[in-house]
Amino acid sequence: MADIFLTNTLTRKKEKFSPIDPKKVGIYSCGPTVYRDVHIGNLRTYLAADILKRILLYNGYKVQHIKNITDVGHMRTDESGGAAFDPVIVEALNSGKTPQQIAAEYTKKFFEDEKRLNILPADVSPKASEHIKEMIELTKTLVEKSYAYETDGNVYFNVKKFAKYGQLSGNTLDKTSKLLEAVRVATETDKKDSADFALWKKAEAGRNLKWDSPWGEGFPGWHIECSAMSMKYLGNHFDIHTGGEDNVFPHHEDEIAQSEAAISRKVVNYWIHAGFLLVDGKKMARREGNVYTVADIIRKGFNPLSLRYLCLTAHYRSRLNFTWDSLKAAENSLNNLYREVTGFATSEEPKVGCAECEQKFLKAVNNDMDMPTALSVVQHLVKSNCPASAKLASLYKFDKVLGLDFEIVAKESAKIPEEVKKFVEERERLRDKGDFTGADKLREKIREKGFEVVDEKVGSRLKKVV
Ligand SMILES: [Zn+2]
Repeated sequence: MADIFLTNTLTRKKEKFSPIDPKKVGIYSCGPTVYRDVHIGNLRTYLAADILKRILLYNGYKVQHIKNITDVGHMRTDESGGAAFDPVIVEALNSGKTPQQIAAEYTKKFFEDEKRLNILPADVSPKASEHIKEMIELTKTLVEKSYAYETDGNVYFNVKKFAKYGQLSGNTLDKTSKLLEAVRVATETDKKDSADFALWKKAEAGRNLKWDSPWGEGFPGWHIECSAMSMKYLGNHFDIHTGGEDNVFPHHEDEIAQSEAAISRKVVNYWIHAGFLLVDGKKMARREGNVYTVADIIRKGFNPLSLRYLCLTAHYRSRLNFTWDSLKAAENSLNNLYREVTGFATSEEPKVGCAECEQKFLKAVNNDMDMPTALSVVQHLVKSNCPASAKLASLYKFDKVLGLDFEIVAKESAKIPEEVKKFVEERERLRDKGDFTGADKLREKIREKGFEVVDEKVGSRLKKVV
């Protein structure tokens, strides 16, 4: 197999990817907290994981992809930094539904949004609420090994006991007491150290999402969810863990501490993080009114795949600035590609692709998922002198990674009406006879039917007018 290089947040280096099993790769991606629609920033992170998975498949690996659904335990503070709350429960109270109804509704919407962006579904989408037993077991192990302690129904991880804390984010204990203070959840006043984080939390009075545990009724912390579910589905040692750059600290740092303390070994080999998506140069925030969803994109008349294309134009690790103009430009580029692809599709069936371009494409995608370069290879191919059928064969192949629906679009619009086919044949005859005025009249008639004739060295082909 060809070499693949990935930037590993853990080592801060671009490394040659070396899977644990030479044929099969395990990936765990942190999924959504299901209490409202995911925004396009979240989706950029899921898109990056999707591209990674597609590249591995393209290289011939089998992939086992796990993406969790957080339907309990992700405590948040609002933008003004008040008391911590569980957003699923708050949304349920606000809308007169149960937390389970809210979670089910937004889980369904999340899957729909991913489908609209051609994000391949995960092999397993485990729900936090269905893995409480595993989280309690893991917490028990950490208490038994003295990495965690209980106070008044809450269980905390004792960060000082885990010497390697900070290895992922660089936020080691000696230099981060201030930072840790900032992310401390306001209600946690019974911790030994402000850096400690909750594994299990005591249920407050009146709470209905709660479970029995050795420490009384309560609910799990957010970080323990991903430790428990990743190891349940991928084992104690797996290849890749993905997330957004905002997950590095504290979420993934805490996950490493929990998992490695519990089983006394390194669990994840490669940590891959996608950069933020900014909107008009700013971080997305409700109070800024710049939090957009797939529904907003559709409402404005865009093809959701334009967002996918836009994300491909930037390297996954760099920050990407979303504006409606940049989305429009992405849609124009995508439509141009569709026009080309449908034009090639009216020629003979694709057989052999363009070997040189295919090599360049593979090199680009395997070089730390360099999709901007991969897209430039696509543009180069489209404009090259390769036969249309070869272009089409390569483009269909590339689309296994790009996920832009080339084949569907081409097959849909390549259905040429009989009438148009007759016009084309007649026009060829006229051109052979030198009757260019007659040929031009027929070109107009063909255009009225929604097709454009492109004359080539030998014969002509049709392009659907998009
Ligand atoms: Zn996670």
